[in-house]
Amino acid sequence: MHIRTRAIHASHAVDAATGAIAPPISLSTTFERQADGTFPSGYVYSRSENPNRSALESALAALEGGATAFAFGSGMAAVDALLRTLPQGAHVLLPNDLYHGVRHLAKHFYAASGMEIAFVDMRSLDAVRAALRPNTRLVWAETPSNPALNIVDIAGIAQLAHDAGALLGVDNTWATPVLQSPLALGADVAMHSTTKYIGGHSDVLGGALILRESGPLAEQIQSVQQLAGAVPSPFDCWLLVRSLATLPLRVAAQTETAGALAAFLFEHPAVERVLYPGLASHPGHAVAAQQMRGYGGMLSFQVRGGQPEAFAVAGRLTLITRATSLGGVESLIEHRRSIEGDDSPTPENLLRLSVGLEDEADLIDDLTQALAPLAYTR
Ligand SMILES: *Cc1c(COP(=O)(O)O)cnc(C)c1O
Repeated sequence: MHIRTRAIHASHAVDAATGAIAPPISLSTTFERQADGTFPSGYVYSRSENPNRSALESALAALEGGATAFAFGSGMAAVDALLRTLPQGAHVLLPNDLYHGVRHLAKHFYAASGMEIAFVDMRSLDAVRAALRPNTRLVWAETPSNPALNIVDIAGIAQLAHDAGALLGVDNTWATPVLQSPLALGADVAMHSTTKYIGGHSDVLGGALILRESGPLAEQIQSVQQLAGAVPSPFDCWLLVRSLATLPLRVAAQTETAGALAAFLFEHPAVERVLYPGLASHPGHAVAAQQMRGYGGMLSFQVRGGQPEAFAVAGRLTLITRATSLGGVESLIEHRRSIEGDDSPTPENLLRLSVGLEDEADLIDDLTQALAPLAYTR
């Protein structure tokens, strides 16, 4: 079945007990044990498993084409669960442009307890090959990357990682399962901040790991999920399941509008550079065309000037809101450099735009008026 059908039917089953079309929320933390000590429902205690979480996990596994999925209380908790499964002294390759939280987690927590971390420009397969070591256990890719929209060749990196005996994990938050299937391209793990497109309404925090295969890694991740307990609440899972049904439609509309805004910004005299993989001029365009089914709803652009000009443009916007996060129904803009910390490689004149579901013409009007003073003064 096609993704629009799967997004609805993988996540919505009629409730067997009542016939309810919308699933109930199971708030109970504990479940009855039979006289013989068994749990015929499979549910014991909600840190270990919960009906709403199970529904979310099976829907995510179905949409990503994975054997199994694990939901967490945030995207960062999902990444952390994967990193915890690595052996002492493991070497990990991270992309040099990636979500700043993952960079900080790896540098400030894992490196301090003995993990060897290397940052690589993963747009170059040669650079990845050269960085692999005998003790490399994980290659972590993010494509498109946050916030530079770099594209890396998932199938090419999967081959290199596997030849070196390492796993490949891909942060698929920006592409979503609608536009990119990392597991089908050879990755072992796909990760989501479900806070973003999967939630889609800026009202729920969550994360997930989806694994291509069940087996020892899945068991370890399940242990971290159940023992460390960074699990989402039943209501959070319910909201995410509800949102999954509209994910393909939202992403399709956001992608279409993002393409139009990228083309508009590309022609604008106050804009120095547009980072959007759908543009033929983007260095990752060819790889993106091959491994994605669309270029997504995120774009970044560099205004002419520096930090003050970027702030001024964002400050004049009235419809597009200045806020962090992405993937919601409302368009958001952010000066990334200011929140990424001192080691951020992001240019000072870069603004990141999460394109919402507003009408394209209204968004172009807002950008037009915000950019106009900069265009005339140069
Ligand atoms: C937001 C984000 C994360 C972190 O997820 P949280 O849900 O905020 O913990 C990781 N990767 C990417 C690409 C993100 O955009």
